[in-house]
Order: sequence, then structure tokens, then C-alpha cells
Amino acid sequence: MTQVKAYAAQQADQPLALFDLDRRTPGESDVEIEILFCGVCHSDIHTARNEWGGTKYPVVPGHEIVGKVSAIGTGVTKYKVGDTVGVGCFVDSCGHCNNCEKDLEQYCENGNSQTYNSLLQDKKTITYGGYSTHIVVTEKFVLSVSDKLPLEAVAPLLCAGITTYSPLKHWNVKEGDKVAVVGLGGLGHMAVKIAAAMGAEVTMLSRSPEKEKDADALGAHHFELTTVAENMKKMSGRFDIIIDTVSAQHDYNEYLKLLKTDGTMVLLGVPPQMEQIHAGSLIFGRKSLVGSLVGGIKETQEMLDFCAEHNIVSDVEVISIDKVNEAYERTIAGDVHYRFVIDMASLKN
Ligand code: NAP
Ligand code: ZN
Repeated sequence: MTQVKAYAAQQADQPLALFDLDRRTPGESDVEIEILFCGVCHSDIHTARNEWGGTKYPVVPGHEIVGKVSAIGTGVTKYKVGDTVGVGCFVDSCGHCNNCEKDLEQYCENGNSQTYNSLLQDKKTITYGGYSTHIVVTEKFVLSVSDKLPLEAVAPLLCAGITTYSPLKHWNVKEGDKVAVVGLGGLGHMAVKIAAAMGAEVTMLSRSPEKEKDADALGAHHFELTTVAENMKKMSGRFDIIIDTVSAQHDYNEYLKLLKTDGTMVLLGVPPQMEQIHAGSLIFGRKSLVGSLVGGIKETQEMLDFCAEHNIVSDVEVISIDKVNEAYERTIAGDVHYRFVIDMASLKN
């Protein structure tokens, strides 16, 4: 065991603060990573504040991790000390169920080990995330990252990037498809960039008029305010696919109206409460309402390669770790352009 510095929430209503954490000594197939940057995902906030229930305190959030390999176990073959690597939303899975065999570790039938607020495969050891100086992860769940890219801007790809790439791929978004992205935050801005790179005609649906210019710069072809009833009406039946990234309660029925016949609305955002869905919203037009959870390790590597090829990174605001509580408040207020990323050097000093 090695003691490392971290930032943890001790209770739902307490700000995050300094916390000493024990990391395991790297075992045979483990990679120890010195964390350089970690993104701030809205899931970190939902969890730190126990908005979904089930948070085990103290909790160290953070699942958009980029760093350098600082030590390896004797059996590690893929990485060496000094390599630039990433870790996303989970750090292990059973490895033998139907889903793990299909590279869908995010849907492991025996329960995967999420990067924080979860249990390792021994089903006993609690996991602690990336708001810390180091993390130890089994080799198979470590991603290779090009050190030619600005690493602070790559970190958010490990959650926001793969979470939006995976459904766009799975539902086969192609040249000319009409894609709507709801909510311009961390996930939303990546969805716009990736869908545009796939050749889709992208419409940003937002409640925030001041984000119109940014949406345009990110590659959206259209911007529509969802708070204006006339706008919603005129978009009726327009989209092949809607990617919904909104973190707070909102009425899905209103967005389902915007789908074409046979269109699909993908829920990515996980609001703590939800509105009732009317059967008629789906029946009229044979529409699908589906969900998607991050992406498997193989697909995450594919996404990193796709982003490198298309020169896609996240738009970030780098902060020191003592600003993380402020960043949470600003994220909730929608004042994030478009991902806060913690410079972990600020935790080492
Ligand atoms: P974020 O940066 O806070 O963005 C959320 C966006 O939703 C906001 O920027 C805002 O966009 C919109 N929004 C927020 N509150 C709203 C409200 N009351 N009414 C209408 N719109 C509102 O959050 P994020 O990190 O992208 O995460 C978004 C959600 O996805 C969270 O619930 C998170 O837990 C979830 N998530 C899911 C997965 C998955 O695998 N499915 C992975 C990661 C995160 P506008 O100002 O443009 O309207
Ligand atoms: Zn996340």
C-alpha cells in the first residue's frame, strides 16, 4: 500500500476536501499511473451529493483520467514506465460473461468495477477515482493516449467522449443524418463535435441563448432554444436521432415529438427524477426511446483514435484542485465551457 493525496466528499452536503488514500502496490498485471489531469463530469457531482442514492463515503470522484505510467507489475506487457495513458469510467469487469466477451464491459452481467464508488472484482474493496495523485489499474482497463495531443483536453474524452461516440456509432449515424443534441455541457459539446465529424447535420437544442455562438464554433449547423414553444413546434418530426445529455428533470415527451417516424432518442443524462413518458409519444411514429452507458474498452480506444484522426479534443477550463467545489456550482449553473479539468500538479504541491 502507498498513501497518496486525494480530494474526497465526506458527506452529501459537505464540500470536497483533502483526503489521504491508500493505493495498492501494483500486482502482476497492474499499472500504476501518476495522474496529470482529471475531468469533472456531472456524474461526479450526482455521486458526491448522493443524488442517485448509494454513495459510500468518503467518495473520491473522477473518471476522466490522463497520466503517465509510474510503475508496472511483472506481467505487464502493453505499457512501460513513462507511457501516456488514460482511465475512464470503469477499472475492471468479470471478463467472461456474454457482454465482457463482446467487448461490452460496461454492461458486465456480473457487475463491473466502476472507477469510483464501486467495488473491485473481489466485491469487497471500494474504488476511489481520479481526484488523486495516483491510481492503480489492471492493464486491460488502461487506454493508450497519444502524447502529441494537449493532455488536459484529452482527459474528458475518457467519459464525455466515449459516452457520446458509442451511441452515435451504435445507431449508425452517417453522412447527412439529422442529429439533435440536447444540452450543451460536457457531454453535449463532445456529441456535437463527434456527430459533425461523422458527417451528420447537427442541431444544438439548448435552454441557454448565450451558447449559440459556441455551438456554431463547435460545429453545430443549427441552434434552437428549447424554451421557446414556437421553436419546438417548428422542429416537429425533424430528427433521425436525438442525443439527450441533460442532467436535470425535463419532459422527454416534448423531445420525442421532434423525431421522424422510426427515429431514436438516446438518453445519456441521468436526472435524479424523471417525468412520466406517455405511450402515445412512442406509438405515433414508431419511435424508440433508448439509453446508453459509456462504452467498452475496445470502443474507447477506437474513439481515441477517431478523435486523434479528426483532431477532436474537449474545450476545457483547467482549474487547481482547490477550485473543484466552485467548479461543481458553476457546472450546475450551466456555466462551464465546456469541461472543467483539474490539473493534478495542484494536489502534489
Ligand atoms: P453538464 O456539463 O452539466 O451538462 C448538462 C447540460 O444539460 C447543461 O449544460 C445544460 O445545457 C443542460 N441542463 C442542465 N440543467 C438543465 C435543466 N434544469 N433544464 C434543461 N437543461 C438543463 O453535464 P455532463 O457532464 O455533460 O453530464 C450530463 C448528464 O449525463 C449527467 O446526468 C451525467 O450524470 C450523465 N452521464 C451519463 C453517462 C452515460 O454513460 N450515460 C456518462 C457520463 C455522464 P444547456 O444550458 O445547453 O441547456
Ligand atoms: Zn462521466
